[in-house]
Amino acid sequence: MLMAESLTLIDTHAHLDSSDYNDDRAAVIARAFTASIGVITVGVDLRSSKEALALAQRHRLIWAAVGVHPHDAKTLDEDVLSRLDDLTKEEWVVAIGEIGLDYYRDLSPRKVQRRAFREQLTLARRIKLPVIVHNRESTDDLLGILNDLSSSHRGVIHSFLGDAALAEEFLALGFHLGIGGPVTFKQNEALREAVKKIPLERILIETDCPYLTPLPHRGKRNEPAYVHYMAEMVAQIKGIPVGEVEKQTTENAIDLFSL
Ligand SMILES: [Zn+2]
Repeated sequence: MLMAESLTLIDTHAHLDSSDYNDDRAAVIARAFTASIGVITVGVDLRSSKEALALAQRHRLIWAAVGVHPHDAKTLDEDVLSRLDDLTKEEWVVAIGEIGLDYYRDLSPRKVQRRAFREQLTLARRIKLPVIVHNRESTDDLLGILNDLSSSHRGVIHSFLGDAALAEEFLALGFHLGIGGPVTFKQNEALREAVKKIPLERILIETDCPYLTPLPHRGKRNEPAYVHYMAEMVAQIKGIPVGEVEKQTTENAIDLFSL
């Protein structure tokens, strides 16, 4: 049987249930596996969390995260929360996510987002699963809630886009930082400066596919097989062999998510 340890890389943040893959999902998954890339596919609401789990149940080397995204925070009532709790009892569910705050698009009222974030953080803590956190233009409130709940967290700030000072704050709280396609974009020099300083042991590599496609494919649909572009950029920034980035970040994902 294939083991997580045999993988070259793990794409720790994908949305394989996205309708963008409806025509060729099997081929997308096959390309990842051919390249020895494992995938954590992340739900954004109850329906997609169930689909993420179904994908994980059908494919060895795909794992699932279940949760309600800040965009959909208004759908998180007590019933949905308890059904998420039920899903976490299934094998292959390795995290609560995608949860967090998004004040850029504001698709759910901010107060509702904050409540949904707190409730899912509390659930994760109770059942001892790590969290996958989304943060867009909401850093102050996000840090406030995280600081409030406890001094130490297990999880990842996904698609981290901040500078070295903000990276330091999240690291101090216990988080890993997810590095995705934006690290390849020309304008994100502050992010590359941050990556230089983040210990390799605290970095996860991700695509956030179908979104945030890295160079040189920017503008087209993203997919897990592209995760090696992010690993190569991290290696280049840190001045180390890409094999070292592959090995350490894969180990990081295996440890954090108990794969
Ligand atoms: Zn996402």
